[in-house]
Amino acid sequence: MTAIAVLGSTNMDLVAYVPKAPRLGETVTGRAFRTVPGGKGANQAVAAARCGARVVMIGAVGADEFGVRLRSALTADGIDTAGLRTAEGASGTAHITVDDEGGNSIIVIPGANARVTGLEAGDETRIAAADALLLQLELPLEAVLAGARAARAHGVRTVLTPAPAQTLPGELLAATDLLVPNEHEAAALTGLTDPGRCAAALLEAVPEVVVTLGAAGVLYAARGREPLSVPAPRVRAVDTTAAGDTFVGALAVALGEGRPMPEALRWASAAAALSVQRPGAQDSMPTRAETDALAL
Ligand code: ADP
Repeated sequence: MTAIAVLGSTNMDLVAYVPKAPRLGETVTGRAFRTVPGGKGANQAVAAARCGARVVMIGAVGADEFGVRLRSALTADGIDTAGLRTAEGASGTAHITVDDEGGNSIIVIPGANARVTGLEAGDETRIAAADALLLQLELPLEAVLAGARAARAHGVRTVLTPAPAQTLPGELLAATDLLVPNEHEAAALTGLTDPGRCAAALLEAVPEVVVTLGAAGVLYAARGREPLSVPAPRVRAVDTTAAGDTFVGALAVALGEGRPMPEALRWASAAAALSVQRPGAQDSMPTRAETDALAL
């Protein structure tokens, strides 16, 4: 069984559905409100677990009701949360407004995630036991760096989702095996727009890059190899929340099983395409059997 470690964020998503988002100073009446577990780290952990991997989550929830729910959402998917601390204060929250056109605006308050500033007892062992460590940028950079260093020291593949987009320290890029930006993050990192050029520029810093292109699929580039485009399955998308996280979780599992990159990319694209056909983030993520059926 593939073993995946995730060092990343857990957030409670507080979602308000409104006909039209309020302008500054305006009050509007919304249609509905939902609280759903999210955070890029937790999303990738759930995606990998549904793909059949053994998953450990490293990070922190707050000492509040959201923290209890965030942890139990992970354990419900069989994820080991011994490395998920309960930090003083509030859990991370994402305050999301979704309008009738599907447009959204989001405020993220890191809460407990901000208190993850490095590895704690047992974390290095958790990372060393994994086939891959999944990292994103919703924890303080020093923690992300500490995780990447530990993975490198134990020969564990590091997969970095550079979101939210920000300038990356050279040391983090140097400890990254596979970088998976979406096209906006790739553009922000390189100052270029064409995904092929972005990927080529990023290969100067990391050995392998997958740029995700939404409904257009993905572009894979590796040093010394011809780039490879993998189209996305054609599906009717109803909610693309966490599509990228589903893709990364599935890709890491397929690679951990030793599947060749083109096959792993097609399989992960199938998983992501399934997730966009259903509403929600973690709720929308497919099981291994569903992904196998679409990827055939
Ligand atoms: P993010 O969710 O990080 O913004 P993307 O929008 O690029 O990233 O989506 C990630 C992946 O999810 C895509 O590369 C693709 O495999 C899949 N995906 C996203 N939108 C669709 C869609 N409309 N149809 C099929 N697959 C999709």
